[in-house]
Amino acid sequence: MRLKGKTAFITGAGSGLGREAAELFAKEGATIVAADVDLESAEETVGRVEDAGQEGTVLEVDVRDSDAVHAAVDEAASAFGLDIMLNNAGISHGRAAVEEIGEDERDRLIDVNIKGVWNGCQAAIPHFREQGSGAIVNTASLAGVIGAPQLGAYSLTKGAVVNFTRTVAAEVGPSGVRANAVCPGVTDTPMPRKNRTDAEWEATKEKMARHYPLKRLGRPEDIANAMLFLASDEADWITGQALVVDGGFSCA
Ligand code: NAD
Repeated sequence: MRLKGKTAFITGAGSGLGREAAELFAKEGATIVAADVDLESAEETVGRVEDAGQEGTVLEVDVRDSDAVHAAVDEAASAFGLDIMLNNAGISHGRAAVEEIGEDERDRLIDVNIKGVWNGCQAAIPHFREQGSGAIVNTASLAGVIGAPQLGAYSLTKGAVVNFTRTVAAEVGPSGVRANAVCPGVTDTPMPRKNRTDAEWEATKEKMARHYPLKRLGRPEDIANAMLFLASDEADWITGQALVVDGGFSCA
């Protein structure tokens, strides 16, 4: 087991990539703290963690709320310890040109995607520094490392996550703490399905997949496996990196 005896705090654990990571990390021996603004969905995730034979706990946390994130991380650290911080909660927006995206919509993205990651890092770092170890994994996006037409506000936030991760890595490295980002291409979770019927999503998937050298979109496990690697001791000398997991999209 690659995470035996470790505790992972996962934001956005109630759906998609966060849920997949929670299940996988549990199978690899980790205790899971499943944090999400949607309590019910996080509870379902913890059910799956328990089915995998591991302890899990649920915390209702809005990552935009700095005090709430600090309190939740402190509470989890004192109850279970803290070894892995997966800042994964995030939102996207409907496709629109930059000049068409309103301030409110832009700020909604900044609040969750940037401030959420900031809050999670800020809350976890003191614990990690104190114990002289810890792994931060931030979920960025392919849209944080290449241009993403019609996703301007989203790419703004994800680019910020990529470079902030580098800065955190440089700061905390001397304390024995690592920080990396995962940058997924389009992956089949509730996020890209939003506002599409099942039939529309199947058609979109097929169309998009043509642009990927590996001829398919991501599956949640593709991304969770990369998160697991970066969170594990196998990545002990890897920090400050943005690991692109995109079926080759960015090199085609
Ligand atoms: P998802 O919508 O399935 O899950 C997101 C989760 O985050 C939900 O459980 C939601 O309740 C939670 N969340 C949203 N706002 C929150 C808040 N303020 N506080 C706490 N929790 C909150 O989406 P997903 O596809 O699993 O996305 C996970 C991460 O992966 C996001 O950061 C997203 O930007 C990123 N990502 C996804 C894709 C993709 O194609 N699915 C591609 C690149 C990056």
